[in-house]
Amino acid sequence: MDLSYIINHLGEERESYFRAAVPPIIQSNNFIFKTAEEMRHALAHEMDEPFYTRGNNPTVSILRKKIAALEGAEEAFVFASGSAAIAAGVMSAVKAGDHIICVQKPYSWTTKLLNNLLSRFDVSSTYVDGSDPQNFEAAIQANTRLIVLESPNSITFEMQDIEAVVAIAKKHNILTAIDNSYATPLNQQPIKMGVDMVMHSASKYLNGHSDIIAGVLCCSRERAEHIFKGEYMTLGGIISPNDAWLMMRGLRTLPIRMERVSQTTPKVVAFLENHPQVEKVYYPFAQTNPQLELAQKYIKKPTGQFSMTLKANSVEEVDRFCNELTYFQMACSWGGHESLIFPMSVLYTSANYSETTLPWNLIRFYVGLEEADILIADLQKAFECI
Ligand SMILES: *Cc1c(COP(=O)(O)O)cnc(C)c1O
Repeated sequence: MDLSYIINHLGEERESYFRAAVPPIIQSNNFIFKTAEEMRHALAHEMDEPFYTRGNNPTVSILRKKIAALEGAEEAFVFASGSAAIAAGVMSAVKAGDHIICVQKPYSWTTKLLNNLLSRFDVSSTYVDGSDPQNFEAAIQANTRLIVLESPNSITFEMQDIEAVVAIAKKHNILTAIDNSYATPLNQQPIKMGVDMVMHSASKYLNGHSDIIAGVLCCSRERAEHIFKGEYMTLGGIISPNDAWLMMRGLRTLPIRMERVSQTTPKVVAFLENHPQVEKVYYPFAQTNPQLELAQKYIKKPTGQFSMTLKANSVEEVDRFCNELTYFQMACSWGGHESLIFPMSVLYTSANYSETTLPWNLIRFYVGLEEADILIADLQKAFECI
């Protein structure tokens, strides 16, 4: 199935809604049946047919089909946040007494899920340096049930050799999950490499306009049936029909947005790599990245997130650099239309700094849809102020 078909047509049964070009938002939490027989049938097929919107909603269904096809998965669920999707996927794989291996430095709330929440239910976790697949094998215990990857991971963008880790997991009968938010399904499709569950924060690229919080989880039909009855329906962290509609609108432009950042971001990164006031650039496609080969193997095109450490003498100097930027606005998150920075110095002065091992002079960047020249000029202006 080609990308244009998935994005523009798949799941859109226009005859059933007045041949409208754009699907309606079915803002109904329940569905009416004429006969007890019809109601009995829908209840027995709650994952696939509208019965109650926590389980199935026609607007959300269209989106589910598109997301599954984009990832090359049999099924997809859409959640009210990326964190809800990750929690549902991870929890579906473990019970009390089990053990998880996770790549070191994953997204912060993934760490909290494992350390603070699952530990209360007697599920233990080990974090490993993901740059060598053997580290995963060395950490396997008799009770290991799941390996959690994030490639590249957040903020420092370290990659894992996905196929090598999957081979190890399969040999030991262990499930695998990956946070694929950074690459998007356009650039990396882990299901096709044998990963069991692929999660995304759809608040980022998939929606792409900084106006909703959402998450997705893709997997086989068999796993989806298990997750539907368990974490999906029981915890109930589902997306609303309205937000599903917004996300579908965002998806229409995913390919051109990703094409744009693949052109502009390497120019901005090249400018920083050659700048005397920059200590180090963290980017999968940076010429200085020791994992460049892995990036080129797994990620089809460069994307818009990178970090750098600034040659600065103090937190105040980092603050001044950040305050001076105009087009790079200061905020958390990424994946929308607007370029952003997240300076680690905002963590440095707070009480929880001991929880992070990130340098105080590190700034995470996200390149939005602006022109590269404008962003480079913005950076140039800020460098002149320190
Ligand atoms: C933002 C993010 C998440 C969490 O997603 P939410 O939609 O904010 O819940 C998970 N993983 C990565 C890599 C993220 O950037």
